[in-house]
Amino acid sequence: MSVRMKSLESINSKNSSEMMNMPLMDKPVSEYFNEFVFGPEAKRKYLPVQVLEKLNYCIENYIPLDKENADIIAAGLKNWAIDNHVTHYTHWFQPLTGKTSEKHDTFFQFDKNWRAIEKISGSELIIQEPDGSSFPTGGLRSTHEARSYTVWDPTSPIFIRCTRYGNTLCIPAFLISYTGESLDMKAPLLKSMKLIDDISTKVCKLFDVNINKVIPTLGWEQEYFVVDASLFNARPDLVLCGRTLFGNGSARDQQLADHYFGTIPERVYNFIIEFEQEALRLGIPIKTRHNEVAPNQFECAPHFEFANIAADHNLLLMDKIDKVAIRHGLRVLIHEKPFQGVNGSGKHHNWSLATDTGLNLLEPGNEPHKNLMFLTFFINTIAAIFKYSDILRATIASAGNDHRLGASEAPPAIISASIGENMENFLIAFIEDRQPDIPLDKIGDKLDYLLVPFKKQHTTDRNRTSPFPFTSNKFEFRAPGSSVNVSFPTTILNIIVANQLKEFYRKVEIEFENLSDSPNIIEEQNQIIKNILKEIYTQSTPILFNGDNYSKEWVEEAEKRGLSNISSTPEALEVLLQKENIELFVKNGIFTEKEVIARYNVAIEEYVNKLEIESVLVDEIAQTLIIPAVVNYQNNLIKNVKGLKDLGFEQEAEVHKNQLKKISKHLDGIMQNIENMENLKKELVNITNLQDKAVFINSRIKPIFDIIRFHADKLEMIVDDKFWKLPKYRELLFVH
Ligand code: ADP
Ligand code: MG
Repeated sequence: MSVRMKSLESINSKNSSEMMNMPLMDKPVSEYFNEFVFGPEAKRKYLPVQVLEKLNYCIENYIPLDKENADIIAAGLKNWAIDNHVTHYTHWFQPLTGKTSEKHDTFFQFDKNWRAIEKISGSELIIQEPDGSSFPTGGLRSTHEARSYTVWDPTSPIFIRCTRYGNTLCIPAFLISYTGESLDMKAPLLKSMKLIDDISTKVCKLFDVNINKVIPTLGWEQEYFVVDASLFNARPDLVLCGRTLFGNGSARDQQLADHYFGTIPERVYNFIIEFEQEALRLGIPIKTRHNEVAPNQFECAPHFEFANIAADHNLLLMDKIDKVAIRHGLRVLIHEKPFQGVNGSGKHHNWSLATDTGLNLLEPGNEPHKNLMFLTFFINTIAAIFKYSDILRATIASAGNDHRLGASEAPPAIISASIGENMENFLIAFIEDRQPDIPLDKIGDKLDYLLVPFKKQHTTDRNRTSPFPFTSNKFEFRAPGSSVNVSFPTTILNIIVANQLKEFYRKVEIEFENLSDSPNIIEEQNQIIKNILKEIYTQSTPILFNGDNYSKEWVEEAEKRGLSNISSTPEALEVLLQKENIELFVKNGIFTEKEVIARYNVAIEEYVNKLEIESVLVDEIAQTLIIPAVVNYQNNLIKNVKGLKDLGFEQEAEVHKNQLKKISKHLDGIMQNIENMENLKKELVNITNLQDKAVFINSRIKPIFDIIRFHADKLEMIVDDKFWKLPKYRELLFVH
């Protein structure tokens, strides 16, 4: 029996056994949330009050901690860990691979008298020195310069990774090179948070002197597919690339629109419950779960958090989710486009700014026309998207997302913002210095429905086709792919909005200087701010589009407006190297020029590597799994034709001969294109420049994958099912 058939057979028995073994969680979430986190409660219990105060002060003000306090914290932390049966600790960091890394050490040591003890010192907590030579550096160092450091990030909670066999303390950390350059995604995010905090606080003080801190908030929504683990293992493309390189579409997929918000299949439901419980224990405030549009596609979303913590939590969840799935005989696909022809997966970034006084700066309130502080942040965010849309586009560029953007299921590669008609009408009135036709405070109109009178709460409808819609009290960046490390798009969002706020503030300062003392000073100041906002808004309107972003008309209209439509990763990443963009990063103190170039190098190299891996697999799967299945069936047909002829059934034999001709045509198509691909790969070897390499692969080699696939998928429709070795789409998408 083929691996595929065996896998299919094994699924029935899996269902019952896994459900039987599920323990019932008999505690409310509030009792186990944060159980494995060195959070406020554990800190209070294990740290002296003054030390905890000092730690919190350092975190709030982005100030380094001194050695003496670090030693006390390390001792308290160790006690908490030992009480939780922890044996090892690791710095847990996010190198430029987009994933997380760890290197475990035990607490176990010898003291002076060679007695076995458990210990971690302050300096071991703060700094570790892993061999960094195998992390991507984008040319920041040569391979022989191996030294790098991981440095504790006290802003993100320390947590414990538990399994039945042992527990490890994970200490969130930064990764830097020996010469101090940033080699991770986290340090830039924190720097960008400080940047936007500084300027936003200044801007806030124009309206409210009580505001002393502003923090970006982030609520992500993670989409993913779930497939049976045995079927997954029988597909080398899923195992190695996370997406199917072959596969004829299932006769039924999402056309009945019956999966979105549908009832969650029981085996998947059990797995979701278990990973959510683990996530909650790790302090990830998961709130929402539901079926997504494609069959076997799901989504989870937490309550929003400060952006740096949200980023760590998303990475932790992406790691955790597949580990738990394996326990249930399932596998999770976080790739942007695992299956051709059905929806891909994204990761929406809901982004806003929170003040230390408890305000959401993007919350218009009931009287937005009187809320100049809201308008300031709202309009400047739109202006930032308008000016820097290309940089924002670069943050979502990846081999996986190239399959998704613009595929009528995800926002197009054209960056625009949608604010909804109500908000736009309101802003036009604001520009024209008149009352809005429909005042926004009427948004809460009653909408009586059958027996239940209720009030509309939202200033805007949803625009699911827009890459950057305003969704009542936050912006939702919808274009990032499901596998992206949220740190990068969020860092860039923070930088561009901060830079725009700086420009705004500079203009305000200049105008304020000319003001003379007068009893109406506040009014005059407000008028100045209004005028500046009007000017900024009027200049930024080309980025606004409330209509259907999937339509052809929008592509044409966007071109007329001069908006970019960057369709591929190599082109999108190259933008990072433009002089003015490097300057933006450097002048805001986030990256040095070398660091920007390094990041571009890492991203473009990853793109090239991923496509090279795919090209090898297309070749291997076609030759070792598809063609042999086809040849087996072909031989059967040949025997049949001969037999029919022997018995004198000439006409009947002819029908099967035609079928054989069809098969030969598609086999030829595969073989010829494999050869074409091989020849192009020989040319590729001679291209040394990474950008040229990426462009060559994207424009010359990648299109051949589709041609080979076309022929193979046609053959899948012809060949006897029992010969076909790769699990089929209908099995991957519907069997569980
Ligand atoms: P919906 O967009 O479906 O109406 P919600 O408003 O509850 O649902 O939010 C969707 C996502 O946006 C959730 O992940 C949520 O945490 C996040 N979110 C809500 N408010 C904010 C905010 N102020 N800042 C950042 N993210 C937010
Ligand atoms: Mg969604």
